[in-house]
Amino acid sequence: MRILVADDDAVTCRILERTLTEWGHTVVLAHDGPEALTCLRANDPPRLALLDWIMPTTTGVEVCQTIRAERQEPYIYTILLTAKSSMDDVIEGLEAGADDYLIKPVDLGALRARLRPGLRIVELHDELVKAREDLRYQADHDPLTGLWNRRALLSQLRKEFSRGIRAGRPLGVCMVDIDHFKVINDTHGHVLGDQILKEVARRMANALRVYDEVGRYGGEEFIVSVPNNTAASAAVIGERIRECIGAAPVDTDKGPVPVQVSVGVAGSDLGDFTRVHDLIAAADAALYEAKRTGRNRVCMASPPQQ
Ligand code: GH3
Ligand code: MG
Ligand code: MG
Repeated sequence: MRILVADDDAVTCRILERTLTEWGHTVVLAHDGPEALTCLRANDPPRLALLDWIMPTTTGVEVCQTIRAERQEPYIYTILLTAKSSMDDVIEGLEAGADDYLIKPVDLGALRARLRPGLRIVELHDELVKAREDLRYQADHDPLTGLWNRRALLSQLRKEFSRGIRAGRPLGVCMVDIDHFKVINDTHGHVLGDQILKEVARRMANALRVYDEVGRYGGEEFIVSVPNNTAASAAVIGERIRECIGAAPVDTDKGPVPVQVSVGVAGSDLGDFTRVHDLIAAADAALYEAKRTGRNRVCMASPPQQ
């Protein structure tokens, strides 16, 4: 573990540095409060800090307070080093946000014992943060393709739809559906079907610009949101997606498998859409039309009936 030792006393610094290094830690030294703060504000700060209480300019307590106020993550476990040992002093230090304290001169046995819970807390905190980030990812993404899942996709579409109305800009939507996917599954099996889905998702994401979002709407159906695009310009993007997916067969464990998609396109400029749901329904109807008229093509929605 990287540990910050902040103390204006060179002897204490040296003893702590040597001891902590012997115990397998990497020591970062600071000789006053501002140096300690710079170090703890860095991108990848030491996760454990031993802070001398009395230092010139900024005290260890002030360093604690500042860091607690400024950053919640990553958690930095702080131990104050102090010659003060009255209960009032200890309480003041802990209220400033320190996790623990050690009386100077530092007893090395006590130091070792005090480090243990610190290391444990830092580790537990990291595990919690990782679990939370994993959950966040899972809540928004489709596990097979890594694209946005239906819920996240719809929430983004709703946001883009309202933003477009406020800014007077159109929102385009492409609904992409793999042609005869059931046949691919029936012929080659579900596992290969999954490989194809992944590759189609990858090709689609590659065909888009950074402002466009693509998500898995259902089984082998995807929706691409193209902000600031009319139905006509979204159809150009739809065509690019269609070509890009169908350009080359997908390499699978069972050899190359040709894949084609049909695309239904709608845009908020086509009429008076009041809900994003109606825009999606229009794209869906256009997709149905693309299927009906032969597949492997892009069809544009007709204006909604008022
Ligand atoms: P069309 O050209 O009209 O779209 O025909 P289709 O066969 O693609 O459409 P249909 O809706 O009849 O079949 C979709 C198939 O997609 C059936 C379903 O088993 C399959 N499917 C849905 N989700 C998954 C999945 O996650 N993995 C795999 N391998 N198949 C899936
Ligand atoms: Mg299909
Ligand atoms: Mg389908």
